[in-house]
Amino acid sequence: MPADPDCIFCKILAGELPSTIVDEDERTVSFMDINPGTRGHALVIPREHAKDLLEISPEDLAACSQAAQRLARKASENLGATGVNLVNSCGAAAWQTVFHFHMHVIPRYENDPLQLPWIPKPGDPDEIKAAGEDLKR
Ligand code: 5GP
Ligand code: ZN
Repeated sequence: MPADPDCIFCKILAGELPSTIVDEDERTVSFMDINPGTRGHALVIPREHAKDLLEISPEDLAACSQAAQRLARKASENLGATGVNLVNSCGAAAWQTVFHFHMHVIPRYENDPLQLPWIPKPGDPDEIKAAGEDLKR
């Protein structure tokens, strides 16, 4: 039985939806993304349902990070990736579409088609400082 019957990743964990599992441990399962950004794109999820970065326990977050590191090493060793992006989207405004925490592990290759989603340009130094002060509060 999936922990959350409305959650597709809980259904994957329960074996009710097919997936290609590439890594597992006590706290996490990792499987291939069905819409890969690059070859080898995988998702790491906690076994325990948590909707996002703000809800996941620190222990599960640490376990997901360690699983992501294992997959990053495999992407380098087995797929010939020369870089890796770890991506987490938290909240609809941040493009989260599946509300069971997941970390994307995206192998990167020279001249692959992925682009930064923003064009970096210098910000106003006073505003950067003010935002930093607000964050610290
Ligand atoms: P998000 O947009 O929430 O950061 O990422 C959700 C990811 O889950 C997407 O990259 C999407 O391709 C992937 N995804 C959605 N449904 C399924 C599914 O049924 N199986 C697998 N393996 N991946 C899925
Ligand atoms: Zn879930």
